[in-house]
Amino acid sequence: MNHRPKPGWIERTVESLGWINRLDPPTAPREERLAPEGKFSQFPPADRWGDWADPVPPGAEADASRRCVLIPTTCFNCEAACGLLAYVDKERLEVRKFEGNPLHPGSRGRNCAKGPATINQIRDPDRILHPLRRVGPRGGGRWERVGWDAVLDDLAARIRESLTGGKPEEVMYHVGRPGYEGSVERVLKAWGIDGHNSHTNVCSAAARLGYHLWQGSDRPSPDHQRSRFILLMSSHLEGGHYFNPHAQRIIEGKLAGAKLAVIDPRLSNTAARADTWLAPYPGTEGAVLLAMAHVLLEEGLFDRAYVETWINWEEYLREKAGLSGASFDVFLSEIKEVYGAYTPEFAEAESGVPAATIRKVAREIGRAGSAFATHIWRGAASAHLGGWQIARALHFLNVLTGSVGTPGGTAPASWHKTKPAPFDAPPAVKFWNELVYPREYPLSTYEMSFLLPHFLKEGRGKLSVYFTRVYNPLWTNPDGFTWLEVLKDEEKLGLHAALTPTWNESALYADYVLPMGLAGERHDVQSQETHSGVWVSFRQPVLRAAMERMGKPVQWTYEANPGEVWEEDEFWVELSWRIDPDGGLGIRRHFESPDRPGEKITAEEYYRWMFENSVPGLPEKAAEEGLSPIEYMKRYGSFEIQKDVFQKYTRQLPAEETEGASIDPRTRVASRDGRPIGVEIAGRVLEGFPTPSRKLEFFSSTLKDWGWPEHALPGYVFSHIREEDLGPGELILLPTFRLPTLIHTRSANAKWLLEISHRNPVWMHPKDSDPFGLKTGDLVKVHTEIGYFVNRVWVTEAIRPGVIACSHHAGRWRLDENEGGRMGSALVRLEEREKGQWLLRQVHGVSPFESEDPDTARIWWRDPGVHQNAAFPVHPDPVSGMHCWHQKVRVEKAGPDDRYGDVFADTGKSFEIYREWLQKTRPAPGPGGLRRPLWLNRPIPCERDAYQLTPEPPVDGPPA
Ligand code: SF4
Repeated sequence: MNHRPKPGWIERTVESLGWINRLDPPTAPREERLAPEGKFSQFPPADRWGDWADPVPPGAEADASRRCVLIPTTCFNCEAACGLLAYVDKERLEVRKFEGNPLHPGSRGRNCAKGPATINQIRDPDRILHPLRRVGPRGGGRWERVGWDAVLDDLAARIRESLTGGKPEEVMYHVGRPGYEGSVERVLKAWGIDGHNSHTNVCSAAARLGYHLWQGSDRPSPDHQRSRFILLMSSHLEGGHYFNPHAQRIIEGKLAGAKLAVIDPRLSNTAARADTWLAPYPGTEGAVLLAMAHVLLEEGLFDRAYVETWINWEEYLREKAGLSGASFDVFLSEIKEVYGAYTPEFAEAESGVPAATIRKVAREIGRAGSAFATHIWRGAASAHLGGWQIARALHFLNVLTGSVGTPGGTAPASWHKTKPAPFDAPPAVKFWNELVYPREYPLSTYEMSFLLPHFLKEGRGKLSVYFTRVYNPLWTNPDGFTWLEVLKDEEKLGLHAALTPTWNESALYADYVLPMGLAGERHDVQSQETHSGVWVSFRQPVLRAAMERMGKPVQWTYEANPGEVWEEDEFWVELSWRIDPDGGLGIRRHFESPDRPGEKITAEEYYRWMFENSVPGLPEKAAEEGLSPIEYMKRYGSFEIQKDVFQKYTRQLPAEETEGASIDPRTRVASRDGRPIGVEIAGRVLEGFPTPSRKLEFFSSTLKDWGWPEHALPGYVFSHIREEDLGPGELILLPTFRLPTLIHTRSANAKWLLEISHRNPVWMHPKDSDPFGLKTGDLVKVHTEIGYFVNRVWVTEAIRPGVIACSHHAGRWRLDENEGGRMGSALVRLEEREKGQWLLRQVHGVSPFESEDPDTARIWWRDPGVHQNAAFPVHPDPVSGMHCWHQKVRVEKAGPDDRYGDVFADTGKSFEIYREWLQKTRPAPGPGGLRRPLWLNRPIPCERDAYQLTPEPPVDGPPA
């Protein structure tokens, strides 16, 4: 059914004037989105990208230097991987600007402000252009230039020593923004180390666990465009996951008649666009969602046939209710009883959201049926103890309505994303690194990254070589001053190499600062679940590509990049060769050319092989245009592998896939070589979901068997902060929201973005500010469990009373006047007043300065915002391992000794809190003496033996 309302006369008028893009259906062929020559409002047609001149504004003189070659690449300023087009001046061989790539299937030519701002980052006058080596004590702020050769030799020698000395666990790579599809994981596997660490457990790990337990794929991929009802628990129109690609499709869904509901205690820009805004007391979202499930069940608004076919209800009856062999009707009675207590009235009492609103939304969800799209990313899931159950409760609504993987529904992300295989796959690693997957967290979705300094302080290990890559752990993580203490400690951390395109607070505590390329300065492939299709995008170094297009060969990307900026791909190849110069360690062979045996692989060869062999349909498509696959990707930047991928789980397995398979007579799971491959339903073996039951797991045997039987069903977990536990003056702090125009710690070099937003006041409802006599602009002191920060107040009704909020996207700082990031950071003094008692105090805010960019002398903003994360202790959820971000805080008016921007924290106290939370865990071994269930993913695959923590018990014997 088409819900698209007819455009009114205003829309048609502005369309005819060319002020807006065509109001055609969003699936219009790509050519229609391209410009007739000379129009600003549309895109240059692809056949003119080789030689393009932008239209000249009226009154300006035509300038021959405006002739450009347009080179596609991929944005790197968030995870969405939108397409960019670099306009490279042919004469000067410099990038003039970045705009959208209209051929990119995810972003379709559109970008948020951060995409075009890539040009600011490239031209940042504070850019690091040469490798630097520390001089004097670590963190002392003194550096010298060093050659890449010396850096690579030093790193290679240290890594080789760790590997040959039997200490592979001492080498670690810690990434903030990856921007690739498994290429560094391949490097680490080739080195034989389980040393991958990421930022995921301060980001999305909780939501990932919720989804993974349901469907064996750890993220949702909604088809917003075709949905009839959209329920969001993150700010997807303004800054949530896959922000721009999702935002444009949400708006298209709305234009086609979909209704939008947003659950968020804060009136985000997204909530402001919603038909219904639900503002629960933080941590009670699970109660609201289960109350919606209750309404669907009680009012018969669920898809009975879907639920009967696709959830593991028989296993639930057998294992949980002791009702083996009972009918689906018995299951329905059971489930209604289980969720009988979650009435809308109960949820209202918990959350403050009116029961009538919950009923209304639930009925709209029921009416939307299979066209019900949802998303949660960080939001509530990342905020609370048991946040992963909030994601599970949300997906429960999709399961009940049969909207899993349907047009307009919510699919597993793995259907809409691909990881093209490279020419070579190193074997799984042989050992298990407890610094990343400690035994206390056998179900943690990703590495326990934010506890690394606590583990090192506790003496669980040490690191000889620690790489941070596009990662600023000191600033990004909770308990940042504990990071600082460990980063400075050369006993615990032998060498820290910061691979980064920009200065950051952690790089100051590195031994090497190694400049790496920005979006248009390196190679990568990316693919993201932006909608119901599958695509791959090529990030290419645009100056190199332009030079090659003009017949100027380039051997190494750094030859085309500014200064001595390298790209990671070439860095890892070169480093790997130096670690294993004669091939004796078995590492070098993974970095040899597939075309020239025994010789070093080039970036061109790596991606040529990938595009020729691992991207289905690309060779044929390229051939239609007389191009090779890599030429096609260099020319257009992206390729759509598949459109409209829906309901993959219903695929019947062909005979060749089921040959030799056996079917479990009780569960009907089909297995081959001991591995589940499908499930028999109505006499046919279907693909199902990659879970142990091959169905959607309403009942999780994994949780039951691994020590959490009380959470085996989607449920409501009380947050670590409950409203009734708050004392006088205490509130809950929501510190997790994004400013949509900033990039965590990578935008203090982007003048356009900073001009738009640069501070992060504390949102406070008048009911909360009035008792303190606080008005907008007044200083407030926000006390946490381990310290405090001082910020200005913004009094607003756009936040639920009882809750205050502060964005984590501002508050950058630097210790030296001339350190990088001057456009967006404060100069601070950092003092350890007593052991472990750190006070950070601003000396001054942002000031204009002279540089080759005249705009830096015109900087008018002074306020860079206030850092807050260092004042938070760690709160690792005992199941998902996610840091639970929300804080119980006490607020007061700032006193005479307090200054704007003060941050104080006591790392002794934070360590005690770490130990308290550790006590909540239920450590491995689990069944079979394992460290972790074999079916849960991890970034670096380990051999089966590495999973064995204790000897496997005899089949019928007691646990070991
Ligand atoms: S949403 Fe914005 S920052 Fe993210 S990839 Fe797209 S253009 Fe870049």
